[in-house]
Amino acid sequence: MAAAASACGGAGCGQQCSSASASGGAEEDAPTERMGRLSISAATACGKCDGGGVAVFVAGGVGMCVECFQAHLFGKFKLAVTSNAMVRPTDAVLLAFSGGPASRVALQFIHEMQSKAIQSWETSNSQALPAFGVGVAFVNESVLSARLQHETEMVIEDIKSIVSSLSPGDKKVHVAPLEDVFSSESGVKAARLKEVVGMIDDETGRDDFVRCLRMLSLQKIALENGYTKIMMGTCASGIACHVLSATVKGQGYSLPADVQYVDTRWEVPVVLPLHDCLAQELNLLCELDRQVFLKTQQLLDRPCSGINSLVASFVSRLREENPSREHTILRTAQKLKPFSFNKFSANGYHDFLPSRLRPKFQNVDTNESTFSEILCLICGSPFSESELQNLESTKHKDQKRTDGYTAHCCQSCRFQILPAATDMYEHFFSLLPKPWTEKVDTASASHSSLRDQIADYLLDKDDDEN
Ligand SMILES: [Zn+2]
Ligand SMILES: [Zn+2]
Repeated sequence: MAAAASACGGAGCGQQCSSASASGGAEEDAPTERMGRLSISAATACGKCDGGGVAVFVAGGVGMCVECFQAHLFGKFKLAVTSNAMVRPTDAVLLAFSGGPASRVALQFIHEMQSKAIQSWETSNSQALPAFGVGVAFVNESVLSARLQHETEMVIEDIKSIVSSLSPGDKKVHVAPLEDVFSSESGVKAARLKEVVGMIDDETGRDDFVRCLRMLSLQKIALENGYTKIMMGTCASGIACHVLSATVKGQGYSLPADVQYVDTRWEVPVVLPLHDCLAQELNLLCELDRQVFLKTQQLLDRPCSGINSLVASFVSRLREENPSREHTILRTAQKLKPFSFNKFSANGYHDFLPSRLRPKFQNVDTNESTFSEILCLICGSPFSESELQNLESTKHKDQKRTDGYTAHCCQSCRFQILPAATDMYEHFFSLLPKPWTEKVDTASASHSSLRDQIADYLLDKDDDEN
């Protein structure tokens, strides 16, 4: 009973204990209100099977043993994967692994899916497709933290041993220092990362900027090693926090893009199979199963600050009052129109889909926002109408390179991430990772070459005067 989630220390002192269990003290709650209320009690047997002494209370107060609880969460994971066509047999999936409970559960579950696929491939005739591949990526951000180097090395060793214990299916571990996204000599990279992060005045902006670099790093690992999907351990609680903080930051237009299961706007598409699982559930599964398999490695010692951490503590207070709040926030945000890049197109997916799901991927859903293909240089947010207009207006001017970069940043990044003094822009942009600025360079080069091509047909000032 190490995982004491109740006031009585998880001993299950009975119906009188106000917080002992969801089914005990919360009879008057509506079933939906009890969703996600978790506690552990030895008093009740599993409501799903006949075995098991310890019961986990989840989803409407149903008591479950550890095995059934795990199966319950695995069911949500698998449903998210299959109903959104996240993984094809030909895919190589790169799991973004932080070592925390969410990514640890994602690793375990994708491993289980892979094992089953390998088994059925081995037992079937050669007709069947091979099983998908899985790799694990760890982005090492220690250059930005005060942690000692040998601690990081121990964590990395632990991660390698966790991954190597998962067989069948060979899984490579890719450890990439965050500063590797800066394409300069190795000694300079770390200094560059520190300098550019140091130029951001706003704490929230710094936090978000590092998050953008992390995504770039994952994309780089995936592209260099032939992965076709990036799987993240983002769960319902994390998305709920993002919904609120994005609203506070004025990122309402691009918000729908971040709350879906699938995000193909990146070169390597990103999938979120833990979309419907709560952080509490994932933590609990790791705690219950620690002896069995789910060893976690907590590395997030970065002191969080600014809007993101304020929102996180706000959401955790909401959860204490009513555990279904995270689901409510998520459901509300999902009523927003997703973008066209929030699902896989029918191309190449059709053959692997169960027939009942095919129509979902075939028809162009008119309920989706059309997408301008212009994404923020830094955070990848799609551009809103006003941002597009601003970009258009700068195109007609003889602009400096820096103006082009600035116009390709969304409002929120301009406000939070770009330095306050505009005379620092040039230096700031020169420090950014090349993949970000190069996109704008190519776009403006093609724009000016078009101008060159049609230059003969354009009236210039001299002609007017003659
Ligand atoms: Zn059970
Ligand atoms: Zn942005």
